[in-house]
Amino acid sequence: MSTIPVDSAVLAQILAQLQSLEMNQEAMQAKLDALTNANPAFSSPPPSEPKSLPIANGTNTPSSSSASSQTNLATKSSKEKEKALYPGRVLLTTYPSQHSISPYPLTWGASNPTLRGPIICSRLPSTLPFRNAIGAHSGSYSIYRALSIAMGSLDPRYKPNYEMTEPAVDGLGVEWEGWWEDGGKRIVSMDPWGHLVPKVFEKEMRDKSEGGLGLDIRPSISITKAHIKLKEIDESVKRGEIVVDGKIVLQSEPLRKDDGSLVDIDAGVEVNVSKAAVDPIWYLPGVAERFGISESLLRRALFEDTGGMYPELITRPDIKVFLPPIGGLTVYVFGNPAHLRDTSRTLTARVHDECNGSDVFGSDICTCKPYLTYAMEECIRTAQGRHPDQIAQAKEKLRKEGKSEEEIRKVDKGEDGVGVVVYFRKEGRALGEVTKYLVYNLRKRTGDSASRYFSSTELVAGVKDMRFQALMPDVLVWLGIKKIDNMVSMSDMKYNAIVGSGIEIKKRYDIPSYLIPPDSQVEIDAKIASGYFSSGKQITQEDLVNTVGRRWEEVEH
Ligand SMILES: [Zn+2]
Repeated sequence: MSTIPVDSAVLAQILAQLQSLEMNQEAMQAKLDALTNANPAFSSPPPSEPKSLPIANGTNTPSSSSASSQTNLATKSSKEKEKALYPGRVLLTTYPSQHSISPYPLTWGASNPTLRGPIICSRLPSTLPFRNAIGAHSGSYSIYRALSIAMGSLDPRYKPNYEMTEPAVDGLGVEWEGWWEDGGKRIVSMDPWGHLVPKVFEKEMRDKSEGGLGLDIRPSISITKAHIKLKEIDESVKRGEIVVDGKIVLQSEPLRKDDGSLVDIDAGVEVNVSKAAVDPIWYLPGVAERFGISESLLRRALFEDTGGMYPELITRPDIKVFLPPIGGLTVYVFGNPAHLRDTSRTLTARVHDECNGSDVFGSDICTCKPYLTYAMEECIRTAQGRHPDQIAQAKEKLRKEGKSEEEIRKVDKGEDGVGVVVYFRKEGRALGEVTKYLVYNLRKRTGDSASRYFSSTELVAGVKDMRFQALMPDVLVWLGIKKIDNMVSMSDMKYNAIVGSGIEIKKRYDIPSYLIPPDSQVEIDAKIASGYFSSGKQITQEDLVNTVGRRWEEVEH
């Protein structure tokens, strides 16, 4: 059959229709611009706007409001409160060519924060036209912020005061070329300057009346220090596996009654740590590249599967940064944080994904908490120079120096190293806790065996795992880590992601068998069989069938 010749008249007709469509779109855009122009959201707030907000209850009274204005606001209807909070028309989305839209220049991967530019996603009237990021600050907590504004307890125009909040630890979050080398491709899921925002963008944040730009820009990282107390570490100190050195591990103050008399309970120890909280900030082209998909597909999926929450993912292809509504991460450093960047120091690391059931409540169905506390102990030993490898190295050095065997035997520590645990909010392999418990039920009802461990998750969730470790190494790069001596993790996905990011892993090891609760042997064997690392154990198909956990009948007591 011959092909049908394309009639040039038909082509002309199609072209005319396309042109007409384009004109319609331009007309709509013009109308939208006209609307937006009249929208107070794009100009300064109207003078009639009340200074204080509608108050939902008397407990959170803004200092500026007087008693009489409170009464006025309290008597306002919900509709009036809404009008006072959001005087402009609803602005569903913005477009690149729209009137007044002028995103603040942002060059991801630039070598200093001034060249890179601040990340701006506030919808405050002063800042909205300059937005260069989609989404909202604080990850999933942005919803609580919205609630607090709706309730009248937070003024949407409240300007945070960041005085005295600067990082409390030296040596953590120190800039280095990993932050920008390779065009910024090594860090695409956080803002490396997130903790320095109030300092490096001081002028942009300063009020216009004081010569600044008056923009609402927020830190996405904070750095502090703490003492942590864990029963597991107290026990390890008692067994002599961890040493109280007065620097990293401190003896806790004795416990006293109200009258000051001593209580006969061992107060245990506390551990000195530095820590950083990090909110997610995604550079969309970089994130798409990590996952091997197109930026346009990533945007479409994020738009569709968040219930269309962020239309600008579609209408603003010029904006490349997205602040997703997900949990962030926390970094815990044991020892001197500056050692993280020093390749001559021994570094022990664990990357841990949240498991509330085990980490906090001690559920024995998995090994998450034992793994986490064991990793912390390994981090402490490394920071103190008391990891067995460090002691062996110190002995070897003395041997080379010709020291006597008697002297060498006395050595119980090497050079101080550093430990780091990164805690990601990716509950239940990022499937969430509801899905996780559904899987538990299925497992327990169908005979909990290692051979069915992953297939049970797949039956319920459609996938085995949604953590996708591709973005995880960003924080390690941010910390300046170039090599990890001891990786306390069995996960092949974590290992591959870290090594793929250009960080060397010298040794990895699994959890000592005596720390594995009997009921979680199912999880361990299934993971080893699927490719997780194990220093010795080989799992056969037969083992998988034979490794079984408790059934419901055995749990109900
Ligand atoms: Zn767990």
